Amino acid sequence: MKCTVCKNGETEKRTTSITVNRADSFFIFKNVPSEVCINCGEQYFDELVTSKILSMAAESAEKGTILDIKEYRAA
Ligand SMILES: [Zn+2]
Repeated sequence: MKCTVCKNGETEKRTTSITVNRADSFFIFKNVPSEVCINCGEQYFDELVTSKILSMAAESAEKGTILDIKEYRAA
């Protein structure tokens, strides 16, 4: 797809690592599917991917986990 930030580049599918911060907890998710602009490097995440990650982070935070590295898994 066309990048909406620089309006110049095309995005390509990649997997990336992202950090999510919930209250006092930090989570790193690996192998997250994303689209990355080859021009400016802006990352785009699918709505489903985003909500999945946020709910995984919220679940762990509720269990009292303060730092964790997780592998992203599609539901
Ligand atoms: Zn761009």
